[in-house]
Amino acid sequence: MRELVVISGKGGTGNTSLVASFAALAGSTGSRQAGNAVLADCDVDAADLHLLLAPTMCRREDFYCGHTAILRQPDCIGCGACLARCRFDAVRKTDGGAGEATFTIDTTACEGCGVCVWSCPVKAIDFPERLSGEWYVSDTRHGPMVHARLTPGGENSGKLVAKVRETARALAEERKADLILVDGPPGIGCAVIASVSGASQVLVVTEPTLSGSHDMARVLELTRHFNIPAAVCVNKWDLNAEMTTRIEAEALRAGAMIASRVRYGRAVTDAQLRGRAVVETDFGPLAADIRTVWENLSR
Ligand code: SF4
Ligand code: SF4
Repeated sequence: MRELVVISGKGGTGNTSLVASFAALAGSTGSRQAGNAVLADCDVDAADLHLLLAPTMCRREDFYCGHTAILRQPDCIGCGACLARCRFDAVRKTDGGAGEATFTIDTTACEGCGVCVWSCPVKAIDFPERLSGEWYVSDTRHGPMVHARLTPGGENSGKLVAKVRETARALAEERKADLILVDGPPGIGCAVIASVSGASQVLVVTEPTLSGSHDMARVLELTRHFNIPAAVCVNKWDLNAEMTTRIEAEALRAGAMIASRVRYGRAVTDAQLRGRAVVETDFGPLAADIRTVWENLSR
């Protein structure tokens, strides 16, 4: 079973559009790489693959990660030990007059370190697991998809990504799928590392700009570090042909393969507005570029 992860150095470079098209091509009998694919949207901070694949949800699970301190007012004796020890200013003191004070915990400011729980002399602080998001298994017209949503302000997107990948793998084994196609998050942070580690291949999508070149270099450092074969695709290459040539040369020097280029075109926006992948709505040169990238990825 092969696992292809599509990532970019920053958001908005077009990797989700490419993943949706790859999903369509993986299911197409005319494709050299046709087969049974399981899709995984690992961009859990800003998932958007569902906008193009219109999933029907089959399973929904809560994702818990870390802890939150909850103060039980009736049990609190007002000693102030939690206020004195919290390094995140999450404990609030309200003076009630006559030397009385009320202590509360702001759960959005709480970092879940547990110091207040440990320091409370009367054990008046509960420390339940924090609900940080949800993950789903859905059916799409191009195969099953595992996706997730991190609660705003929720932490540990890397753990949620790991959960999405683990579920996609189990599903792929159950359905004897040939391919897991992963839409990865942007950047080089924890969520990206969780998305690429152990993958068979990474496709880095970039744009022909100076920042695109820097973003690609950082991502390729990461794939080299984890010893994962990498390929590079410059999206909207014709906006700056000279920069595209430079980026491809840099990619080759960094040991990556060039998976071909994709030109700029309105067909991408048109497909997005229709909630479709580009290769489902466009049969011109832009869709042909995407097909070439797809075919090259298995060479
Ligand atoms: S768990 Fe840590 S961050 Fe949260 S209120 Fe207690 S001491 Fe502060
Ligand atoms: S440490 Fe416990 S008893 Fe003291 S103020 Fe905080 S919650 Fe109340």
